[in-house]
Amino acid sequence: MTFAAPLRLRLDSDALIANWKMMARMSGAATTGAAVKANAYGLGAREVVQLLWNAGCRDFFVAHWAEAEAIADLVPVNTIAVLNGICEHDVAPALALGAIPVLNTPKQLALWKAAGGSKCHVMLDSGINRLGIGPEQLTNGLLDGLDIDILMSHLASADEKVDQNWEQLLRFSEMSDGIIGRRKSLANSAGIALGDDYHFDLTRPGLALYGGKAVAQYNGVVRQVVFPEARVLQVRTIGAGDSIGYNATHKAASEMRIATLAIGYADGYFRGFSNSGHACFAGKRLPVIGRVSMDLVIVDASHCTEMAEGDFAQLNFELDAASQVSAISQYELLTGIGQRSERIWF
Ligand SMILES: *Cc1c(COP(=O)(O)O)cnc(C)c1O
Repeated sequence: MTFAAPLRLRLDSDALIANWKMMARMSGAATTGAAVKANAYGLGAREVVQLLWNAGCRDFFVAHWAEAEAIADLVPVNTIAVLNGICEHDVAPALALGAIPVLNTPKQLALWKAAGGSKCHVMLDSGINRLGIGPEQLTNGLLDGLDIDILMSHLASADEKVDQNWEQLLRFSEMSDGIIGRRKSLANSAGIALGDDYHFDLTRPGLALYGGKAVAQYNGVVRQVVFPEARVLQVRTIGAGDSIGYNATHKAASEMRIATLAIGYADGYFRGFSNSGHACFAGKRLPVIGRVSMDLVIVDASHCTEMAEGDFAQLNFELDAASQVSAISQYELLTGIGQRSERIWF
């Protein structure tokens, strides 16, 4: 049986590719990879990886081994790096798969050496204090006997103009000095905007590829990729004083025309959009009124007489604006996109 999908995610492949090329241009002499962890931030890793490979991307970063396996038939498997590293159980399947671990701890280094020490990446912690070899752990000889491709570190506050950025740059340079690796890598999306000093040999953007404005500088530069659309399930006129949605958080000041759309917080259109988000139809702006529910959202269609049951309305999902009105980070808006949406690349 095939049912008509009430909810779809339109995904702009040209915008994705343009964003990657923009990050590559801004990365100067460095090559540019792509963070495709968490199913490419919710968009669909398989489609994203194929599009970016065709655009010239040759370095892909996932968090889990299962994520590497899910794209391993699409690109040479040694172009996939697994950021969360390995545990004992992973060593044999990791070697069998052929994706490259990012080794984060002395224990991970020891496991990989014991397994033969074939090609790996190493994460140095230059100050985020989250994952990676800390300066106090970086003793003489710790990295001997490994075939290191990428020596990397991760910035904690690249989206802010703070001293921590150059402090991390300095510490990464000191820590990686004298370690034999083929390439060095530090910058994520926001880090690319910090300038040449931060680019090293390889940059690792994620958010900006998918339309995120990691820094204000990317406004007007990074293009929107994700466009959610939901079917209008019902259109009705209600009277002055009538309340709308769960807990009656909105009351009609006068007679109004309301439309109910087939998208809700279970689809990643979170409750933060209650009385703050908006939909678009026929070039008009339809504010969300009342609370977003699990599968539904109500919009004010008073000024949009064109809208009728069965139409599809676009939810505003320009990430910078959507993040501001919902108080949800651009990262969470993307990764929160639910599985019920049909994904249509155009
Ligand atoms: C997620 C991640 C990235 C990409 O970060 P964005 O801010 O999305 O560009 C780069 N490097 C590492 C280690 C990451 O975990």
